[in-house]
Amino acid sequence: MPNQKMYEYGSSPSKIREIFEYGKKRKMEIGSDAVFDFSLGNPSVPSPKIVNDTLISLLQESDPTILHGYTSGVGDLGVRESIVNYLNNKYQTNHVAKYVYMTVGAAASLTISLHALLNEGEEVIVLAPFFPEYRVFVEKAKGVLKIVKPNVLTFEPDLDDLVNNLNSSTKAVIINSPNNPTGVVYSEETIKKIAEILKAKSLEYNHPIYLISDEPYRELVYGDIEVPFVTKYYDNTIICYSFSKSLSLPGERIGYILVSEKCEKKDQVYLAVSGAGRALGYVCAPALFQYMVPKCLGYTSDLSVYKTNRDILYTCLKEYGYDVIKPDGAFYLFVKALGSDANEMVERAKKYELLLVSSDSFGYPGYIRISYCVSTKQIKASLLAFKKLIEDYKNEE
Ligand code: PLP
Repeated sequence: MPNQKMYEYGSSPSKIREIFEYGKKRKMEIGSDAVFDFSLGNPSVPSPKIVNDTLISLLQESDPTILHGYTSGVGDLGVRESIVNYLNNKYQTNHVAKYVYMTVGAAASLTISLHALLNEGEEVIVLAPFFPEYRVFVEKAKGVLKIVKPNVLTFEPDLDDLVNNLNSSTKAVIINSPNNPTGVVYSEETIKKIAEILKAKSLEYNHPIYLISDEPYRELVYGDIEVPFVTKYYDNTIICYSFSKSLSLPGERIGYILVSEKCEKKDQVYLAVSGAGRALGYVCAPALFQYMVPKCLGYTSDLSVYKTNRDILYTCLKEYGYDVIKPDGAFYLFVKALGSDANEMVERAKKYELLLVSSDSFGYPGYIRISYCVSTKQIKASLLAFKKLIEDYKNEE
């Protein structure tokens, strides 16, 4: 018999993947234009031109044994230096390359960081609603997941509940802003308050409580919204970054971990990060995509498409009578479920070829998530289906 836990993860794929697979099947049956697939956060906007230009020139001009060879386990030094130079310039910080560790995206950044920090039975706080894989990552690192409720008006964390959940076994808190699944961006005030709470509790329990900032959506914000850069507010921060969404490269697997230069015992933490990467068998992040990074820092895919999609969907769904959380970032809308059961709504939406995800797996039932990283044409075409779906419920009243 294989490992029971791994067998369970493999045999019960995430709800998001389940609906995505259903969508693939349905598209074969009735054609892809007829299915409104809002299941997955797969960027719909191509990478900026500089990505392909850089890759082509690397392929044409670099020594292939280096380009396709192993890099050091922590990543190429020049690449890591370019990352801290970029961040320091942008955020007026003093990060150093020796605390950057190149990874295969945010998921790996998170699993490595959790394995680096956790001893068996230590607790990790996540803020509901949260990315469902956090549960798997924390369990795999032998940690215990604790869930903090949101403030239901803002969908920022309920800070009293955060205080209630902290105890001497708390090792880390994961934050994710801009947020999947709500699209909410935590305000500077909220980040400051979280920092204050964690500082006070670290003192009380006489050990650092780490803040793991999961940031695949850092650049995906609309209007003049600013995403506070967490290391400026809290010293014991570990940033888990990914280029999957900002550069539309989720299949290429590239990102990094940054241990703040102000983190307590930063050398030990960084060595534990390296050790966890080694123990998990990552070897090194893909060399070609590491070497792409320096030229592409500061660029993003055309985010105006996501803004247009958000504006159309948010305005129209509100007009039809849906209760929608106003999102300032990422590419998700969080909508209160029609009826009493989000899973039933997801099933009923299939009648109109709308593929939605129930919020149950995000640790906060009663809502559905719409991933609006699809074409604007598809957004417009889906509106009638959303209208019919809510009418379907209204007719029952
Ligand atoms: N964290 C959050 C909040 C996400 O939404 C995702 C992917 O959708 C990830 C992590 C994983 O990202 P990556 O593709 O960089 O591993």
